[in-house]
Formats: sequence, C-alpha cells, structure tokens
Amino acid sequence: MVVQCCVCKSIRDSGKWKKKPVSEGQQVSHTYCPHCLDKESAKLVAQQPKELVLT
Ligand SMILES: [Zn+2]
Repeated sequence: MVVQCCVCKSIRDSGKWKKKPVSEGQQVSHTYCPHCLDKESAKLVAQQPKELVLT
C-alpha cells in the first residue's frame, strides 16, 4: 500500500515524501503531504464564512 498526496502526487517513503511514480499494481491511499496539508488548511480557514467564526 502506497500513500500518495492527492495534490502534488508525492509518495510517502519511509517517513519522507518523494516525488516519484507509483509502481504498477500497487494500492494507493490518497492523503495530503505536510506541505499540501498546510496549504489546504489555510485555504479552508480563508473560505469559512465570517458568521461561523466564533468570537
Ligand atoms: Zn503534497
């Protein structure tokens, strides 16, 4: 089973994220690498309607 970032297509390999192709026939689980997770969570926060922000 290979863990791949669904944004930048990096693959987690022994705890490190590397840009390399997935071998044929391997099962792929999609997630975010730390870099893209940062970017995506920042986007989500920015997208939140103001009404939902607790004061
Ligand atoms: Zn990524």
